[in-house]
Amino acid sequence: MTKITENLNTVRQQIQQSAENSNRDAADICLLAVSKTRPADDLRQAYAAGQRDFGENYLQESLDKIEQLQDLDICWHFIGPIQSNKTRPVSESFAWVHSVDRLKIAQRLSSQRPENMPPLNICLQVNISGEESKSGILPRDVVSLAGEILQLPNIRLRGLMAIPSPCDDPQAQRIPFQEMTRLLADIRTANPTAQLDTLSMGMTGDMAAAIGEGSTMVRIGTAIFGARDYSQKA
Ligand SMILES: *Cc1c(COP(=O)(O)O)cnc(C)c1O
Repeated sequence: MTKITENLNTVRQQIQQSAENSNRDAADICLLAVSKTRPADDLRQAYAAGQRDFGENYLQESLDKIEQLQDLDICWHFIGPIQSNKTRPVSESFAWVHSVDRLKIAQRLSSQRPENMPPLNICLQVNISGEESKSGILPRDVVSLAGEILQLPNIRLRGLMAIPSPCDDPQAQRIPFQEMTRLLADIRTANPTAQLDTLSMGMTGDMAAAIGEGSTMVRIGTAIFGARDYSQKA
């Protein structure tokens, strides 16, 4: 068994355990393997171990991997910051975008989504910890932006994503995730017919807290692929 296979099995067991602890069904929690900085061969190994959803942050790197892994049936998620002049390749090559935080980006993704593809799945990224340097919309702007995005064709708003500021205390980790759950409920109240089913939250360091508070998609990099090495990146 490769190290990646072993790690994936461990993460799956942890998801199962966290789900049981909060009386949830582990089948309602999707594992997204975050493969930024990883060579295509690492993704192949994870795929061979049954992993299908992969998350990437850097556009050019991800397009290279999508090309190299065309023979695999991968569901690609874009989770990094998006520049408005780079929306076209994102709308043409991905199934999901988790990092939408402006109407202009959503409009471009909608108009550039190829007609022969299913609608692009979207999450709004929320700056849940209110950090100045972080991308994402402020919690108070979530409901109005969601209402506008729900009007657009060719994209489908699925829910919310957040990256809370790092914190080691498992109890304190739960607070921003609780607020995310409330925000999703607020969008549902304002848009009763919208089919919102996604809370993209939880990373290697706070996965259990996120699942305890209702995460439906955990984004896990380090626990699957090991620590990242950025020294090779430009
Ligand atoms: C890198 C990254 C992750 C994965 O983080 P780990 O701590 O390695 O699990 C998750 N989400 C986003 C948006 C990321 O950029």
